[in-house]
Amino acid sequence: MSADSRDYKLDLSSRPPSVAPAATPQVPASLRPFLSVHFACCGVYTRIYRSPDASSYRGRCPRCLRPVTFQVAASGTDSRFFVVY
Ligand SMILES: [Zn+2]
Repeated sequence: MSADSRDYKLDLSSRPPSVAPAATPQVPASLRPFLSVHFACCGVYTRIYRSPDASSYRGRCPRCLRPVTFQVAASGTDSRFFVVY
């Protein structure tokens, strides 16, 4: 099966040495601050991540796509869990 062997090598060599998704965020997801949000509209829970400029947290209800924005304020709450009605 020399043909199969050649195809296998080609497949390997076509991959770049270090694979990185094109849309890699500047900060790893594990380090990005996020809020835990419960969308009462659909009874679902999700996380929303801080915007790149750190001025707000923006997300959407995963079911009805209702947008939600939390402004970041120095005097704001330390709570990390919110319910959106
Ligand atoms: Zn919803």
